[in-house]
Amino acid sequence: MKRILLVGAGHAHLVVLRALKRTPLYGARVSVVSPYPKQIYSGMLPGLIAGHYTLDEVQVDVAALAERAYADFVQGRVVALDPERRRARLDAGGELAYDYVSLNAGSLVDVSTPGSEQALPIKPFENFVRELRSPRRIALAGAGAAGAEMAMALRHAGAQVTLYSDKPTLPPALARRVVSALRRRGVDFRPGMAVSEIDPGPVVLTGSARQEFDRVILTTGARALPWLARAGLAADERGFVLVHRTLQSVSHPEILAAGDCATLRDAPHPKSGVYSVRHGEVLERNLRLLAQAQPLVEYQPQPRALLLLSCGGRYAIAQWGGWTAEGRWVWWWKNRIDRGWMRSFSR
Ligand SMILES: Cc1cc2nc3c(=O)[nH]c(=O)nc-3n(C[C@H](O)[C@H](O)[C@H](O)COP(=O)(O)OP(=O)(O)OC[C@H]3O[C@@H](n4cnc5c(N)ncnc54)[C@H](O)[C@@H]3O)c2cc1C
Repeated sequence: MKRILLVGAGHAHLVVLRALKRTPLYGARVSVVSPYPKQIYSGMLPGLIAGHYTLDEVQVDVAALAERAYADFVQGRVVALDPERRRARLDAGGELAYDYVSLNAGSLVDVSTPGSEQALPIKPFENFVRELRSPRRIALAGAGAAGAEMAMALRHAGAQVTLYSDKPTLPPALARRVVSALRRRGVDFRPGMAVSEIDPGPVVLTGSARQEFDRVILTTGARALPWLARAGLAADERGFVLVHRTLQSVSHPEILAAGDCATLRDAPHPKSGVYSVRHGEVLERNLRLLAQAQPLVEYQPQPRALLLLSCGGRYAIAQWGGWTAEGRWVWWWKNRIDRGWMRSFSR
């Protein structure tokens, strides 16, 4: 009996567990290790902050899902991976042995700005929600889709919000709609202003200018989990695990990786939950094939992904390739997709 270890309960592993609940995986013992038995879904996090959802509505009960998928749930955080001994070490001290391991542990935010320890990173979400409380004056560093969404959600909840952006990260047509939405909602958007340092206070420094806030939130780009970058696997220049289209590590075929923590060597694509879900569909098939010692199938990268970005109130912006749209109807569409995703794990 092969031992398959799923590290992290990211989107791809949720897809795997949902499939195992319907059709069990014979010939292998599956375990899932993740820090939170109930975890927050990123797509609904801005809606939680804006007050559209309760905490219960945005959490996936991973432990219950694992049980229904005939998998063992281990609550813990992996702090080291030893590919030679095929073991993962946990923060509590124990080790988990595996024959195959699948990594879907997401990413962290970039904390390279000096004084980042004065700020609250948006990831892990569970820590962010616990620590946020109700600050009045908030600064966000990083205006990608997540930073803009969070800025508008916090503004909707009544805070004064300043959003710093060092460089444009969104495609022009989408950026125009997002900037206009930020301005309409009264977010103090500062394009081209990089946060150079964060001092105690917290005080944000942008060049020679200083401004004090009650909270500084980091919504900066994705950074690899440090223990993964240290595991000795082939990695890209940022430390994300390089994988073939089968999602196998290019250096260690018994290790698979999906979602934000992986980079497809042949076809790198942006890091977002939508891609992780697609990885999950291939991962599920490949874990079954591995258990039967069969050749694996390949992920076919999709050229574009649907982006739905909520704007604080029940209003959202959509982007699909070069097409963009916005309105209350987009929010209802997003709400329907997000609620459907959540429901699919509880049935
Ligand atoms: C505010 C916000 C809104 C977003 N909205 C969207 C959206 O609408 N659509 C979209 O496509 N993307 C969205 N994203 C991006 C998206 O969150 C990430 O790209 C996505 O979550 C990555 O998914 P994943 O499957 O790689 O891992 P994640 O979903 O991040 O899950 C990682 C899992 O690994 C676990 N884990 C972490 N460390 C360890 C460890 N050491 N050991 C064991 N387990 C661990 C975590 O607890 C979690 O279970 C948003 C991001 C933010 C910040």
